[in-house]
Amino acid sequence: MTAMESLEAGAGRLGLKLSAKQLEQFHIYWEELVEWNRCVNLTGITGYQEVQTKHFLDSLTVCLVWPPSRANAVLRIIDVGTGAGIPGVPLKILFPEIRLVLLEATEKKAAFLRHISDRLGLADVEVVTGRAEDVARQGRYRESFDIVVSRAVAPLVTLAELALPFCVVGGSFIAQKKGDLVSEISRAERAIIRLGGRLREVRTVDLEEFSDERQLVVIDKELATPELYPRRPGIPSKRPLS
Ligand code: SAH
Repeated sequence: MTAMESLEAGAGRLGLKLSAKQLEQFHIYWEELVEWNRCVNLTGITGYQEVQTKHFLDSLTVCLVWPPSRANAVLRIIDVGTGAGIPGVPLKILFPEIRLVLLEATEKKAAFLRHISDRLGLADVEVVTGRAEDVARQGRYRESFDIVVSRAVAPLVTLAELALPFCVVGGSFIAQKKGDLVSEISRAERAIIRLGGRLREVRTVDLEEFSDERQLVVIDKELATPELYPRRPGIPSKRPLS
């Protein structure tokens, strides 16, 4: 079996040591992704090297702003618009103890997520098929997560409305972004506050694998999100706040 060398090396530069079991899980994940991608449109990236860096290593960069581990506290994480499981599944492989919800609107992608969770033997993973606008209104999920993660789903102003309602007061939302963020952040500033958030930091990911200014936007949840949000499906993107 090939060993995911590029991922292992990149993770090492993030200060992470992946075990043989974890590297094998990533390898199986890649194989299944390629296999399922023939029938389900999961990703445009399928090459062995590219998947290691652009999907797996990129997911693990979220660790750069991960909260320090708290004794006796099992972190609850939701990945909003996870697609083929990015970044949620790599984070679960890295931190097997987290309780993870993978939220995805498309049923076919959700079927893959159920398959891959089984195939990798991941415990405490729940796949929820639905739109964030609806699911965030269900008591079981609203303000129930210590960390909300999301990559490549929407501009920050829209994403804040989809993600912050899931976040418990005292928790954080981590958005993976790339490119020039200045105007995207300024457009989202007022919405973030209205939703109960506060921008804590924008961390640049400084790895040789990435030349496209990948950044992590960290928003702390300071106050409960008003009941009004998120608005009906489609509205957060059609009529962004502020
Ligand atoms: N996070 C993955 C997928 C990005 S593509 C990655 O980085 O590779 C965006 C995904 O979000 C799609 O699979 C789409 O179905 C899902 N999505 C978009 N809007 C959504 C919403 N409002 N609620 C739930 N999922 C959504």
